[in-house]
Amino acid sequence: MPFVRNGPDGNGRGVTGSGPYGRRERPPPPEPLGEPTVDAHTHLDACGCVDAADVTAALDRASAVGVTRVVTVADDLASARWVVAAAHWDDRVTAAVALHPTRTAAVTDADRDEIARLAADPRVVAVGETGLDHYWEYSPPEAQEHAFRWHIDLAKRLGKPLMIHDRDAHADVLRILDEEGAPDTVVFHCFSGDATMARTCVDAGYVLSFAGPVTFKNAAALRATAALVPDEQLLVETDAPFLTPHPHRGRANEPYCLPWTVRGLAVVREVSAERVAAGARRTAERLFGLVDLPPVAAQPAPGVPQLRST
Ligand SMILES: [Zn+2]
Repeated sequence: MPFVRNGPDGNGRGVTGSGPYGRRERPPPPEPLGEPTVDAHTHLDACGCVDAADVTAALDRASAVGVTRVVTVADDLASARWVVAAAHWDDRVTAAVALHPTRTAAVTDADRDEIARLAADPRVVAVGETGLDHYWEYSPPEAQEHAFRWHIDLAKRLGKPLMIHDRDAHADVLRILDEEGAPDTVVFHCFSGDATMARTCVDAGYVLSFAGPVTFKNAAALRATAALVPDEQLLVETDAPFLTPHPHRGRANEPYCLPWTVRGLAVVREVSAERVAAGARRTAERLFGLVDLPPVAAQPAPGVPQLRST
């Protein structure tokens, strides 16, 4: 999501930083899933987590309802340092790092060097979120495109999945992927395209990740899209603290809220929630190499700060 914490659920709060979202009241926990699953895209720092105890508490809440792993995603350099640290605090956490498209107006060589170094960490399982955002006007389109091309190249050099942010930029994102040559694994986080784009992505071998909006009452077209995606190309995510699923839209989102989205997808795909949960778990394990990851204890954090400096 954009770094400006403007509730994408339409509440219009132009809030920056973690505080107000972290303080919004959390929904009661959902009924636990019958199969464990993976939250493929969340922002634990923006959810209000600061230290290892916060991360453990958030993952305990998630695990209690069957969300046994998360990928926590950075959107700027400070966040990138924090997510890598968090991925070394708890075995259930892995990270993705990149500069969000809205954060690309003034990127230095030193910024790129640090992102590349952090992205090489063994507990960083994807380069992202990167892509294009034609909704917010914080970074000029040329700067976004330049950064997107650089992140595509980084993902290929590291052999890691590319995690795409595409807001109102479907055609340009697909064009640039074609021009650069896509990495082996491409994930469209919070997929928002129509059925035609979904088919294009599925045919290209891309993976589509669905978040809370598939549960929203006005999202019939998105639900139809979600029904088209094969199990092996489907992920589920919260994008917390944003996009809280129905029936708790507007309240604070966290990884433990994922079961509402899983159940929403199960209805549109006409399968059980267990099948959606297990299918998305297997897809995440395969794409992100989760099963083969050495435990945290075997991988001391490579000089990353233990706390986010803000
Ligand atoms: Zn996000």
